[in-house]
Amino acid sequence: RAAPKPPTVALKQQAPQTSNTYNNASSVAAAAMAMRKDNHTQQQFKELPPKVPAEPSKDAGITKQKKQSKPLMSNAEIMLRLKSVTFNTDPTPYFKMIEKAGQGASGSVYLAERLESPPSEYQNDHVVSIENNEPQAIGDKVAIKQMILSKQPRKELIVNEILVMKNSRHKNIVNFLEAYLKTEDDLWVVMEFMEGGSLTDIIENSPTNGSNHSPLTEPQIAYIVRETCQGLKFLHDKHIIHRDIKSDNVLLDTRARVKITDFGFCAKLTDKRSKRATMVGTPYWMAPEVVKQREYDEKVDVWSLGIMTIEMLEGEPPYLNEDPLKALYLIATNGTPKLKNPETLSLEIKRFLSVCLCVDVRYRASTEELLHHTFFDMACKPSDLTQLLEWKE
Ligand code: ATP
Repeated sequence: RAAPKPPTVALKQQAPQTSNTYNNASSVAAAAMAMRKDNHTQQQFKELPPKVPAEPSKDAGITKQKKQSKPLMSNAEIMLRLKSVTFNTDPTPYFKMIEKAGQGASGSVYLAERLESPPSEYQNDHVVSIENNEPQAIGDKVAIKQMILSKQPRKELIVNEILVMKNSRHKNIVNFLEAYLKTEDDLWVVMEFMEGGSLTDIIENSPTNGSNHSPLTEPQIAYIVRETCQGLKFLHDKHIIHRDIKSDNVLLDTRARVKITDFGFCAKLTDKRSKRATMVGTPYWMAPEVVKQREYDEKVDVWSLGIMTIEMLEGEPPYLNEDPLKALYLIATNGTPKLKNPETLSLEIKRFLSVCLCVDVRYRASTEELLHHTFFDMACKPSDLTQLLEWKE
């Protein structure tokens, strides 16, 4: 990709909602400018939602808005919730660290080997592999994400992530195993290890073998999208919106399993609150209704799934070469993005994209409807996917 990896954004409405395109676009511009000015996190375009305690910002308007807001959870409450889902013990004797597997904004991810069974209360409850129902065994490989809590600008996202993962056991969701508070400041989250890494890695590193100079063929894309869609349907059935679907947040393993990860920005819809309005996601993958700061629901993930399908076809999402501000404007005003070489693609994939990338949410497909789409009839066999991981060897 030409542009650096774009980070996730969470931003509450800055301006009153309006149906006027010009006003919507200008509120998008205001939002993007605010994000740009806020450098308090490692991520250049990350913003705090209004219910988080204020942090120093160069932008007076933003700081004022944050100061007016009541914190959703105090630090003490966050720690209390964290302690209720973690072991308060030193996990070092339980694992042999093997190598660093990746780096995220909130911490490093390591490949490790389990040396001992986890503390007893977890054994029957959590440490179960969902595919075969076998408990995690000594010698199994795991992924450990290590985070220094005092360095996290938004600890409540970590609590959110652990709670969603813990309660979302499905073959297309990265399986949470256990978590440890080594000290008050040192958190280890243990997950199943996905040795294939992220879908972004595959898109960027695999040799070209599809049309449009893509590393993936349409059958391989159909397989990955179908698996992701099954994970999304599972979340949507529980009224959870992921809000950050993109290739970076889809992991693969050598058995061609495809799983969704990164649940920090998930939102739960309820009868009382069946829509959301906070601007959350990564600009290039955001649905128009999110960008326009309208009320939205689970269908925002379907739009992002469509954008992720374009990533697999074209190597990057639409507008990636544009500044995020301009990209937000283009998403809000252009409607369904244009494909670079539609003549090289099958009718099935184009039809699939048109029902994912439908600006009118009423006509955009649900994950349930997508799973019946004829595009998935062309999905490859799992063995045809493993060749995509050959670049890693
Ligand atoms: P953050 O969640 O901190 O904002 P992030 O979303 O960028 O960061 P992480 O979830 O921390 O990313 O993961 C960073 C990298 O570590 C991923 O890109 C991936 O390569 C690797 N990784 C994460 N989870 C696993 C896993 N379960 N198995 C194997 N590799 C993983």
